[in-house]
Amino acid sequence: MPLEVDVTTPERLVLSAKDAEMVIVPGVLGEMGILPNHTHLLSPLKAGKVAVTVKGEERHLAVSGGFVEASPERVHILAETAEPAEKIDSERAERAKERAEQRLAGPPEEVNIARAQAALARAVNRLAVAELASGSPHASPRRNV
Ligand code: ATP
Repeated sequence: MPLEVDVTTPERLVLSAKDAEMVIVPGVLGEMGILPNHTHLLSPLKAGKVAVTVKGEERHLAVSGGFVEASPERVHILAETAEPAEKIDSERAERAKERAEQRLAGPPEEVNIARAQAALARAVNRLAVAELASGSPHASPRRNV
């Protein structure tokens, strides 16, 4: 039985799939693969890549923290922010990365280090996930990694 998957943010429903075969999420303790019939699970997420496999094709999203809740038939990802790979504005992410790097290179007493590091992690992640969209408007073929 396939998985029903929702990715939502406090602002919008970003992805909804009724027939997913697998979901990979960036758990705070590492990447987690969730297959149908998974036990009940609740875990915080860090900034990273979500991959949802539907009919053998992976759809990629960048998320920046939040939670995943899974049951045997359903996976709900409630993310702070979430963008499908093909909707990421790489130039914006590049600018955000440069700003964060400049802050981190500045005088430490003038920088909120944790905030700048989090902004850098979001930007680097968006750039990495955006790369996965190259060559395909919606999905890229599943890779064996
Ligand atoms: P920026 O400084 O460019 O706003 P940020 O990391 O501070 O980057 P967030 O606060 O994480 O931005 O996100 C604010 C909103 O903008 C969210 O809705 C998020 O999905 C969207 N967003 C942020 N960066 C990008 C991007 N590079 N491409 C597409 N959407 C983005």
